[in-house]
Amino acid sequence: MILFKKSGDLQHWISEQKTKGKVTGFVPTMGALHEGHMQLIKACRSMVDLTICSIFVNPAQFNDPKDFEKYPVSIETDIHMLHHAGTDVLFLPSVSDIYPGGQTGLETYDLGPLETLLEGRYRPGHFQGVSQVMSRLLKLVQPDHLFMGQKDFQQCLVVQRLIEIMDFPVHFHTVSTVREADGLAQSSRNRRLTPEQRKNAVTISQVLIDIRGKLSSGDAGDLLQKAHEKLDAAHFKTDYITIARASDLQPITHWNGEEKAVALIAAYQGDVRLIDNMLLN
Ligand code: AMP
Repeated sequence: MILFKKSGDLQHWISEQKTKGKVTGFVPTMGALHEGHMQLIKACRSMVDLTICSIFVNPAQFNDPKDFEKYPVSIETDIHMLHHAGTDVLFLPSVSDIYPGGQTGLETYDLGPLETLLEGRYRPGHFQGVSQVMSRLLKLVQPDHLFMGQKDFQQCLVVQRLIEIMDFPVHFHTVSTVREADGLAQSSRNRRLTPEQRKNAVTISQVLIDIRGKLSSGDAGDLLQKAHEKLDAAHFKTDYITIARASDLQPITHWNGEEKAVALIAAYQGDVRLIDNMLLN
């Protein structure tokens, strides 16, 4: 695995590979890697000649500075995992390399209602931050294929929209969520849970499975109310729990039994904010 810390060196290497006709795939991450990230690497490797991963904890997408400070870092283990997973390149840029002009006055993108719904509502500015870093990474890496996780469902929709806005030639792939044996979605933030909170955390996936099993055409209000109560009972402070149209995350209050739907949850266990989602049909 080749490690690049400077974008210029990475770009030079990539343009050499492109002239050799190599097909490239990109897996952007914020590090503190786990099996979910490894599945993205695996999916990428199965489709391309060269798998490029980045680790960059993007300050622009953290609306809460405390969340940024507490974001877990485990670079030695990450490098080890990526190497063993057969990653070809790790890009490890500095903040000044990604934002050479500083982080103020950055460009904004017209993301439509996706920007202010759900995650966007509870994390103002978050998806502009995601778009700002993704546009830079895409321009630097110039991948033929891009791999992101369904775990961050709304992020996948935002990045797909960004790709359209940028008119960027890349194939976008969504990889299914990797879960712990008890159903908890793997997340870098899970390592901040106390043993007690970790036990409670499983309720999120249980609630999603429950909604998937019980959803029928008609009013979904009751189902959501019961789900909310279950989260309360497991000591969650819930930001949102919703059933939405999978294509654009518009809320579904009355399901017609056919429209592709997804249930999404964001909730705090202590001061750890967890998100998860499940396609319902
Ligand atoms: P992050 O490092 O949290 O920014 O995540 C990097 C990429 O890994 C994103 O595309 C995430 O959606 C994806 N990812 C995170 N957790 C999982 C998971 N449990 N299963 C599959 N993909 C994941």
